[in-house]
Amino acid sequence: AYAASRPAPLGPTRLRTDAQGDAVVEVSRLCKDFSQRQGWRRTSVLHALRDVDLVVARGEAVSVVGESGSGKSTLLRVLAGLTEPTSGTAVVRGRRQMVFQDAGSSLTPWMSVGDLLREQLRPLRLDRRAADARIAEVLGLMQLPAATAQARPGELSGGQRQRVALARAVVVAPDVLLCDEPTSALDASLAAGVLNLVRELRAELGMAVLFVTHDLSVARLMGDRIVVMRGGKVVEDRAAEAVVSDPQHAYTRALLQAVP
Ligand code: ADP
Ligand code: MG
Repeated sequence: AYAASRPAPLGPTRLRTDAQGDAVVEVSRLCKDFSQRQGWRRTSVLHALRDVDLVVARGEAVSVVGESGSGKSTLLRVLAGLTEPTSGTAVVRGRRQMVFQDAGSSLTPWMSVGDLLREQLRPLRLDRRAADARIAEVLGLMQLPAATAQARPGELSGGQRQRVALARAVVVAPDVLLCDEPTSALDASLAAGVLNLVRELRAELGMAVLFVTHDLSVARLMGDRIVVMRGGKVVEDRAAEAVVSDPQHAYTRALLQAVP
């Protein structure tokens, strides 16, 4: 029975203990090429992803780090179903949601936050009261006042908008949250707040998080495991502590030296 004082939990994720340890993401020999053209002539092929293998277990937090152009966003876009791989396979088991760098500024301006979130929930076919309870719960998790549901994006600060974008992704209780540098457009203190929220949400909802960043210290904060990418290849994939204390690849050592 529905109890107004105690909203239903955000979804089945935290109840699904039988599948614990199962892979929610399985990427195998994934390649993505882009042809580069000059006018109508195809001049060369750019290998954005080269034979990438990656497994993410249910509930696991994995960071993907690498400099600009290393293929991080392309990997996430393939996992989000936004682009087709050239070869290889990428499987996501369960619900996936993606948060982009500029997510806060791409919210539909004329829709209230409540309507934005309700629209996300539509495929779940919750009744109105269950949807409202879910929305109230997710706003609470985001440390946004309940009245935010009535606000339009333009009435919110940049940090609040990014929280709304995060709320929009997690309100459906995804099995996998794909984050593409969601804090790099925010100033340091706002960024820290959003990073902590993602960590808390993961603990609360039991979802797996694949967190892309060019910053190794952020990667360390956000991942139990760190995947280092360079030139479209995975050059290192180990426990975060191991990557930081004993980097195997010269490139990772160079990244470490760049961390203040
Ligand atoms: P990162 O997110 O690590 O900065 P990207 O995945 O965005 O790297 O890009 C990897 C490479 O693929 C880069 O050289 C980039 O220019 C190229 N690339 C990405 N998307 C496209 C596209 N739609 N068309 C052509 N080249 C692209
Ligand atoms: Mg990118």
